[in-house]
Amino acid sequence: MITIQGKGASTGVAVGPLYFYQRAKSEISRYQATDRDAEWARFEKAQATAIEQLGALAEKARKEAGDEAAALFEVHQMMAEDLDYVEAIEDKIKNEGLNAEAVVSDIAAQFAEMFASMDDAYMQARSADVKDVSGRILDILTGVAQGGIDSPVPVVLAADDLAPSETVQLDKAKILGFVTSGGSGSSHTAILARTMGIPAIIGVGDQLKAEYAGREVIVDGGTGTAVIEADEATRLRLMQKRDEQLKHQEMLNMLKGKENVTKDNQRIRIYCNIGSVEDVHTVLANDGGGIGLFRSEFLYLNCDDYPSEDYQFEAYKKVLSDMDGREVVIRTLDIGADKQIDYFNLPHEENPAMGNRALRICLNRPEIFKTQLRALYRASAYGKLAIMFPMVTSVWEVKEAKKMCELVKKELDAEGIPYAADVEVGIMIETPAAALISDRLAKEVDFFSCGTNDLTQYTLACDRQNNDLGRFFNPHHPAVLRLLKMAADNAHKNGIWIGICGELGADLELTETFLSIGIDELSVSPRAVLPLRQKVRETMVAAVREKLIGDILSDQTSI
Ligand code: PEP
Ligand code: MG
Repeated sequence: MITIQGKGASTGVAVGPLYFYQRAKSEISRYQATDRDAEWARFEKAQATAIEQLGALAEKARKEAGDEAAALFEVHQMMAEDLDYVEAIEDKIKNEGLNAEAVVSDIAAQFAEMFASMDDAYMQARSADVKDVSGRILDILTGVAQGGIDSPVPVVLAADDLAPSETVQLDKAKILGFVTSGGSGSSHTAILARTMGIPAIIGVGDQLKAEYAGREVIVDGGTGTAVIEADEATRLRLMQKRDEQLKHQEMLNMLKGKENVTKDNQRIRIYCNIGSVEDVHTVLANDGGGIGLFRSEFLYLNCDDYPSEDYQFEAYKKVLSDMDGREVVIRTLDIGADKQIDYFNLPHEENPAMGNRALRICLNRPEIFKTQLRALYRASAYGKLAIMFPMVTSVWEVKEAKKMCELVKKELDAEGIPYAADVEVGIMIETPAAALISDRLAKEVDFFSCGTNDLTQYTLACDRQNNDLGRFFNPHHPAVLRLLKMAADNAHKNGIWIGICGELGADLELTETFLSIGIDELSVSPRAVLPLRQKVRETMVAAVREKLIGDILSDQTSI
């Protein structure tokens, strides 16, 4: 038995074989094939597999984001069968005798260059398609599983760390748990694990060894312990824990349909954070009252090129329709920092967390911002939408963003496209600057939502990605809590509502504090809804309010 200790990032016990995430190595070998016909057959087989994969992806996209999304993959399917492309490959394999990988790689480069040099924008865009399709065929030929999980049974996924773009593309049905060498509790991988309700352990460092691959591991995301080939007693104890958790979950399930109300009648809304259209079903399964944060950037992370207005519209429309009239707060694009997207071609930054990210990118590149806002307003006709801007530091940014909303609405009016008249516009309070000028900002918007992950990072000058900072990264720090109280007071003085959508919202140690300072909404990962409801229903706020507010403002707290 081998015990690995890390940090629990998403609770729950999972058991299954350990599987190491494979990153693609794109080395293409080049040699003369001994049997040209066999080499051609090898290509044809890879081509057929690629077409099959693309068909499955098109179906997945259609279910999750509509026809427009599916069309992307269908275009790729057609590309894989394109006569010119396939004949060029056949010619080179059969007449020059070169191996299939080298030929596909050469022809892909040749076609991509040809498309890129055309005048027509539509044809130019085919350059990316041919590269993409050829990349898929090459992966099949070289046996590289591009971020996929090539296992017939579900696994516990091990990796050094996973980028958000990698995590989002994983087949969730194949993952029982995560164990990563790096990462931190507020990294986006950890957040995604919690959203998906998958037990996760992070920061195990070099304890994770390649020779453990395929061996049975039991992951306890609560304690941060992973046990490989557990002895009988340990196995029994952990399986008992798993059963208890299942029982506890059954008990929590009885709270479905009940109100989020304290014993002394204070109400709070409990909403959910999601990263994709398909997360909506976990929101509904956990009885979330709405969506308090849809991280729309994951839609962009899932694409190889800027998602079109129609593609985004279909995705937002689906979330709004599926939520059936319940409120959905969609955050505009928040990339930069740890969420990098190649096709944005952002220059390298020394300090990306403090660089060109989120609303800054949108204001600097209005064409991207406008496309998203058009998609959002169009989708607003299908449900109860609120729009939220991330990483605000100044009033002028909000004014400029709102101006873009007005412009978009005017355009839609002129085009006769319907949109809802009552779309609320809010901002995230996730920089100390925004909290400190929240009196001014509150006059500009309909609501605040506090992003405590970034608020903690920026207030304490502590990188949220850095697991080594440990006790220095303390979201309970009075500096953070005072900023939250200040923002809550300013929101209420100006008649707007305030929520918390950072990970701290689910911290049951602080539920009474949040109720005391009058937070109106907590947006948490779907699995955290029912435990939070239970906590709220057990609480008597009046009894603790004064003391808890006193603690935030006290000069006696040890810091
Ligand atoms: C936050 O910063 O707390 C937040 C909710 O946004 P993200 O984690 O996506 O940066
Ligand atoms: Mg943030």
